[in-house]
Amino acid sequence: MTVSLASGTSIQARLAIGADGRNSICRIAAGIDVDSRACPQTALALNFRHTRPHHNVSTEFHTETGPFTLVPLPGLRCGLVCVVDRRQAEDLNLLDDAALAEEVERRSHSILGTITVEPGRGAFPLEVATARSFAARRVALVGEAAHVIPPIGAQGLNLGLRDAATIAELVATARRVGGDVGAEALLAAYDRRRRSDVASRTLAVDLLNRSLLTDFLPFQGLRGLGLYLIDQIGPLRRALMREGIAPSSNAPRLMRGEAL
Ligand SMILES: Cc1cc2nc3c(=O)[nH]c(=O)nc-3n(C[C@H](O)[C@H](O)[C@H](O)COP(=O)(O)OP(=O)(O)OC[C@H]3O[C@@H](n4cnc5c(N)ncnc54)[C@H](O)[C@@H]3O)c2cc1C
Repeated sequence: MTVSLASGTSIQARLAIGADGRNSICRIAAGIDVDSRACPQTALALNFRHTRPHHNVSTEFHTETGPFTLVPLPGLRCGLVCVVDRRQAEDLNLLDDAALAEEVERRSHSILGTITVEPGRGAFPLEVATARSFAARRVALVGEAAHVIPPIGAQGLNLGLRDAATIAELVATARRVGGDVGAEALLAAYDRRRRSDVASRTLAVDLLNRSLLTDFLPFQGLRGLGLYLIDQIGPLRRALMREGIAPSSNAPRLMRGEAL
């Protein structure tokens, strides 16, 4: 396959790894379609400084429009991912830094003390999207080029890392025996190995998101009961955390800490 660069030069290779995000031109070039659905929410993301220590604990408030997640950074700093409906996102984005800091402090119930918002914020409309194939025509897709999920439960980047570790393993194995690293069989194996991990995470995150948005009481009750049990039962909580970072089944060698 041939990649034409903006500089006018071109590169020929047996395999291109498309890690170029949700609007991937590699995916388009490979002729791979995507099944996608927009969610009715936008994630507002920013960093802020605060006066009380976070003790390296990430705190997530579940609101009617989605999670409000505080992610600890080194020192007295945190990242914020605030998932709200489109209208609220526009209103919040119109606030200046001082007014936004007050609003973040209110929504975080002041658990981190006084907040000062740092310059630079991003607004990300949420969507769920999965490529119909994760590889075709000498292109393998990794990360959001292959799958996009709402930022709930911190799964997106982890999925992308497992994609990268899996294609690296398949390519290293093919090279060791002098095989074609872009062969159809290798691309098919990559798609097979990533499909269930991506499908199960996408389903779980989508269901959790829908359970936040629904007014249907039994669904809300089930979610509440689930979160209560996770909070109360230590081994269950730790197992879920382990599974969230690295699934126990079919993990690529790099994710198990082994060499390629
Ligand atoms: C608000 C928010 C919070 C999130 N929080 C979490 C979290 O807590 N945990 C988690 O695991 N995941 C989280 N995610 C998901 C995570 O950010 C994504 O899964 C991850 O960034 C995807 O990485 P990527 O490399 O596939 O795509 P991107 O991060 O989009 O990177 C693609 C890169 O390709 C470049 N590119 C695109 N086209 C071209 C081109 N033609 N030429 C050259 N370069 C190009 C882009 O400039 C970009 O740098 C969050 C996402 C959002 C929106």
